[in-house]
Amino acid sequence: MGKIVRALSETGGVLCAAIDATDIVAELARLHEASSAVTAALGRMAAAASLMGSMLKYEGDRLTVRINGGGPCGTLTAVADYRGNVKCSVGNSKADAEDVESLVGSDGQLTVIKDMGLKEPYIGQIPLSSGNIARVLTEYYSISEQLPTVFTLGILFDNSANVKAAGGYMVQVVPPVSEKSVNTLDENLSKMDEIGKMLEEGFTPEKIALKALSGLGGEILDEWEAVYHCDCSRDRTEQILMSLGRKELAKLANEQETTEVCCHFCNKKYVFTSDDMLKMLKREI
Ligand SMILES: [Zn+2]
Repeated sequence: MGKIVRALSETGGVLCAAIDATDIVAELARLHEASSAVTAALGRMAAAASLMGSMLKYEGDRLTVRINGGGPCGTLTAVADYRGNVKCSVGNSKADAEDVESLVGSDGQLTVIKDMGLKEPYIGQIPLSSGNIARVLTEYYSISEQLPTVFTLGILFDNSANVKAAGGYMVQVVPPVSEKSVNTLDENLSKMDEIGKMLEEGFTPEKIALKALSGLGGEILDEWEAVYHCDCSRDRTEQILMSLGRKELAKLANEQETTEVCCHFCNKKYVFTSDDMLKMLKREI
């Protein structure tokens, strides 16, 4: 079970959200049978999306973070709800590279889609300056949302390449904030250890958030559990197949005995026989 904590400075100008995403990242590595390199990249995406999701206001709000950097892993996508429950997908889960940055690549965009139940979702996009996920997200908030925000993300592996600790935190400054507070915050952040190391040393998300806000009268606002959760179902998969249209559906039903649809987020396979497909066609009339 992942854990998210949000803390606020005394004056209300600095907000910090921290997550222990160890279980979430271990689960995504298992579901996607991901290489260590992909786990390191997708795990960062999951932790970040979860933190960003926790900033959404209402039940039903959803957020998608997508990076297509042209690197060997292909497009990375993470979708989170307003409680930070998250699911992810990646182009090639077996890809490998020297480090996360070269795995992700830097030739492409970061896209953030916020679906807040309005007619049109909010879509923000910036070109990638690097394959460093935390840095790119920090830039996104500065450019696209004009909200100074710093991300720190990290994954620690054990000797057998299993996820030992994973998580991150985001610190957001909501003006007006005194220069003194900003300086204190900068100093705090420069003194923070790597997130994986902190979690391994027993730092809870509460302790991490309060350390980031040290000297600023930080107080815990709320905390809750978040998990890796895919909301796919046979019904939804049927709807996706139906959306292909009658012609395509009939073609699939006639050409092959079974049609298999694999969920990109959890690798679950849904098998439809020709009979199933023909029934769907009849129902559609
Ligand atoms: Zn699924």
